[in-house]
Amino acid sequence: MIEETKPRVITKKKSKLVALIDEETCTGCEVCIEFCPVDCITVVRNPNPEILTNVCRVIEEPCTGCTLCVKECPWECIAMVPRTII
Ligand code: SF4
Ligand code: SF4
Repeated sequence: MIEETKPRVITKKKSKLVALIDEETCTGCEVCIEFCPVDCITVVRNPNPEILTNVCRVIEEPCTGCTLCVKECPWECIAMVPRTII
């Protein structure tokens, strides 16, 4: 007789902190994009319509909170903040 095994439920715990880019000081150099291991940093239009350079923005949901981008940003404009989407 074949015993039925219960399916394993794998729950991935999300980090409590995620990266947040200060779009006022971000230069749009895109260095952070190179280092993000899960590709969750994207390029967006500068929220200030008077500035033509783009800025980067972290997509919160897939961010693992690894802090690599914080360490690599040459302009120190990324901070770790509490996750808002659980
Ligand atoms: S590395 Fe820093 S300054 Fe460069 S795009 Fe990323 S957040 Fe902006
Ligand atoms: S903390 Fe890690 S996963 Fe999150 S945006 Fe920065 S490099 Fe990517």
